[in-house]
Amino acid sequence: MKQNKIFKLIGQEKIYSKLTTFVERGMIATGYLFAGPQGSGKISMALNFAGILNCENRQENSMCGVCDSCKKMKNINHPNVQLIFATVRGKKPSFDDPLAGLSSDEFEEYQEILANLKTNSYSSLKMQGAKQILISNIRKLKKDLLYSKIEYGWRVIIINLAEQLGIEAFNSILKILEEPPEKTVFILTTEKLSIIPATILSRCQVVKFNAIADEEIRKYLDTKDIEESAKNRISRLCDGNMRKVNELLNRDFSKEDTKVLNFWRLMMGSKIDNKPTTMLDVTKLINDYSSLAKTDYNEYINKLQLILFWLRDAQIIAVNGSEDLLINVHLVKKIQKFASYYKKFPYSKIIDLIEETIEYSSKNVYIPSLLGKLFFNIREQLINSK
Ligand SMILES: [Zn+2]
Repeated sequence: MKQNKIFKLIGQEKIYSKLTTFVERGMIATGYLFAGPQGSGKISMALNFAGILNCENRQENSMCGVCDSCKKMKNINHPNVQLIFATVRGKKPSFDDPLAGLSSDEFEEYQEILANLKTNSYSSLKMQGAKQILISNIRKLKKDLLYSKIEYGWRVIIINLAEQLGIEAFNSILKILEEPPEKTVFILTTEKLSIIPATILSRCQVVKFNAIADEEIRKYLDTKDIEESAKNRISRLCDGNMRKVNELLNRDFSKEDTKVLNFWRLMMGSKIDNKPTTMLDVTKLINDYSSLAKTDYNEYINKLQLILFWLRDAQIIAVNGSEDLLINVHLVKKIQKFASYYKKFPYSKIIDLIEETIEYSSKNVYIPSLLGKLFFNIREQLINSK
């Protein structure tokens, strides 16, 4: 029988059938702790679980997708289901309403996070600058549990990243879990199972999620209208993380190829757009990268990673490794040419230096001097390694 799910689920079928079997047998625990790495589908699973618990026409492990409850689930505005995640405090925080103190921009951001979730259940539940699940969230929850009655189905409280509960919020949740209201299921998620206190573990059934298997990611990518080389690259870069897959799907790989090729041309002192490159261009590049680090840090790191991946590929070719291992398989001819020309290039040394640059960039080290050291080093090594 075809299983209907309201939210896309990539892989993790075993967990899904285990949970739906609990529902079928009426063996529903008060608390679940979904533990696993980012992008493994914990929230997607939690939403589907809430969906199947509440579907009016549930059949075995399948929800109908069209009943009133399923429609509300799809819209993420089911009265039985609450989704709690870290939010910012706002200018005028309220005692028991986490949204009351938000500015209109912040509120808009909050709404956008929920709207994104409707179309992509792997999207991030993260407000800029939010570090904790505020106690006001849990106070509001307590009030709701006390005063609002559920008319049908199950109340499902999803708490995203329980490691972000502040101490007060944490203790408050613990009290609720000790004396849970009727027909209520708590689903906590975590990326850091090792720091979840035993008091929570003893009240929850732990469900472990693994990173998504490569073949599942490939199956998903095969449904997309993209080139084979892009599929290869995404499946190698994503680490089984669906959130990363979606980010990578939005990237313009051909543009990135041009950028990384131009970077190496510049380092080699070759022409770009028929103009010879000089040391002045290297200095300009350092400036460009440094300002990028300020305006779009992720993009800055991405650029350094592209340079890193190119070198790792060249190293594989240089030691006669298999082409199958390359990230940039589609650039293999250019990489081969590079590796055969710069025979003595100290790959490991420069790869270490790039990794160090990436690491130090996040530690408030002065970025222009990090980049200066890296780029001038690469240039010098290229000259010496022909
Ligand atoms: Zn339904």
